[in-house]
Amino acid sequence: MKNKNLFINNIYKWIKWITVINSWINWKNIWVFAITHWNEPVWLQVFDYLFDKINIKWILKKWKLFLIAINIRAYNKYILEWSINDNRFIDNNMNRISNKKNKLWSIEFKRFNELKIIFDEIDIAIDLHSVSKWHDIIGITDNKYLSVAQKFFNVDTILVDNLWRTWAIIWYFLRNGKEAYWLECWNHIDKRWLKIWVINLLNLLTYKWFINKEIYIDRKNINMYKFINEIYPKTTNFRYLKNFVWFTKIISWEIFAIDWKKELKNNMKKDIYLWIVKKIPKKWDWVGFLFEKIN
Ligand SMILES: [Zn+2]
Repeated sequence: MKNKNLFINNIYKWIKWITVINSWINWKNIWVFAITHWNEPVWLQVFDYLFDKINIKWILKKWKLFLIAINIRAYNKYILEWSINDNRFIDNNMNRISNKKNKLWSIEFKRFNELKIIFDEIDIAIDLHSVSKWHDIIGITDNKYLSVAQKFFNVDTILVDNLWRTWAIIWYFLRNGKEAYWLECWNHIDKRWLKIWVINLLNLLTYKWFINKEIYIDRKNINMYKFINEIYPKTTNFRYLKNFVWFTKIISWEIFAIDWKKELKNNMKKDIYLWIVKKIPKKWDWVGFLFEKIN
């Protein structure tokens, strides 16, 4: 990765790990985030790819493109200790703090505060993530931008989240009047699928008249789900009742988990869908999400 050092050495207005590609035409700016979690380094290769291609293959027509490696402190700390630390951050999950009270001692809050200094320069944001186990490519946004998301996301699934429930980075943007998206791809280090994911980013840049290109969408029957609720075990005796897989349907009144003696059931009088994010539940840590299908 020849430009890796570039992305983790560059500085913008005294703020570290920001690379700006500038068209020198002031209009609007876009933030592209990577390394929100230290163990997702594959997106630095996407930075590399964009940096090489823009202005050579696709002309940057207008706006400024910010390539921001968010949590390089965690990346630098743990990249040499691969698999030793199963936390994906140093003090706080960078993607769960945007609504929380400032913790001045926290590495992640410090970084978040630092990025807020240039918050006004940004119009559109996209946060790029990866996962460890195979799953669909997922694009995420809120209700307001769902129709835009459908025009550029080349994904298997689009999730519509509820602003007030979550503390993810993109919700900070959306709550404060910006346009924002989130992409989840498989997997953290394998770059064979890079082309499939990067098309999502290029489609967004194309749709927003940022680069000269055609929008490419080949995925058909994109599933769309709307967030209903998180699942937080209240005891250490939480278990799911089936071996649920990716977005498993739960019919009305079906009991899907037991938390000590309490049964968790679908009382919505319609089918809902369960997405398990942690197979081995921990007390008071989310282990899954419930969705309704909207298409
Ligand atoms: Zn992530």
